[in-house]
Amino acid sequence: RRVLFRSRCNFRCNYCMPKEVFNKDYAYLPHGDLLNFEEITRLAKVFVAHGVRKIRLTGGEPLLRKNLEILVDQLANIQTPDGTPLDLTLTTNGSLLARKAKTLKEAGLNRVTVSLDGLDDAVFRAMNDVDFPVADVLDGIAAAKDAGLGLDAHGRLTGLKVNMVVKRSTNVDQILPMARHFRGSGITLRFIEYMDVGATNGWCMDEVVPSAEVIQQLQQAFPLIPLDPSTPGETAQRWGYANAMGGFDPVLGEVGVISSVTQAFCRDCNRARLSTEGKLYLCLFATQGYDLRNLMRQAETTDADLASAIGHI
Ligand code: SAM
Ligand code: SF4
Repeated sequence: RRVLFRSRCNFRCNYCMPKEVFNKDYAYLPHGDLLNFEEITRLAKVFVAHGVRKIRLTGGEPLLRKNLEILVDQLANIQTPDGTPLDLTLTTNGSLLARKAKTLKEAGLNRVTVSLDGLDDAVFRAMNDVDFPVADVLDGIAAAKDAGLGLDAHGRLTGLKVNMVVKRSTNVDQILPMARHFRGSGITLRFIEYMDVGATNGWCMDEVVPSAEVIQQLQQAFPLIPLDPSTPGETAQRWGYANAMGGFDPVLGEVGVISSVTQAFCRDCNRARLSTEGKLYLCLFATQGYDLRNLMRQAETTDADLASAIGHI
């Protein structure tokens, strides 16, 4: 089982940070144990110098981190060796996005993924378990769109995404309303299989809705055709909405499924995860991370030493 390394969040999604565990007695890391922005940027530079081209800020809830736009600005200014732009993105529960989208875009954030588990207010409030309304997340998504987050180099909206975790007993009836809502909006909806992310969320297979079942349900309402992966190591399988002739209709857009349980994508995985306290995890299910913080905080450590340590990992 994986060690939990959750950082702070204002939601208590029952599949991620259930209230029974993440309550007032839960011991979060003291601030000094967290990497500061300069440390995150220093490590990011080393990663980018050695081939990383995409950085995603996630959490916990990344928008709770004070002055996050300063970090975004620092990361956006990292130069890649071949001059190709870095793909800088962020995953958020959307609760603070309406307030922050414009500032983040101005700081250099390229795109954003917003998590939203349904359109029915009662269902969503129960899933986030802090009574947070759907409307405020939709406002955040609209603000991200208005700010131009997710626009590609040709000005097309390709990078704004919504993630929905599907749990059988809770929000399976939200699949179609969500698809209907985002179809044709330029925003890509992706359905994620409910995963066991630690010993705390009471995971059981009965609650997993396999992606194949999601696609079957969607296909009964809207004809879909499979699309090729847009990048190697892409976690989502892409499906395009078809037009009356049966071809992919870019105006209607696409949906995706992330089948982390029924079709684990380990073989193509090209990701590494840096936790808030500076540990590097190669797998979402890893039980152990590799500590980079202590190495980095030793005065004699050079960037070449960090690169060597990362290379060995
Ligand atoms: N707080 C932000 C958010 O909710 O988008 C970022 C962190 S959250 C851990 C990142 C993504 O992981 C979210 O889309 C969330 O729905 C998903 N997630 C969390 N727990 C999960 C689980 N048990 N199974 C599948 N996806 C999960
Ligand atoms: Fe918070 Fe995101 Fe986890 Fe929900 S999924 S508890 S919003 S970190």
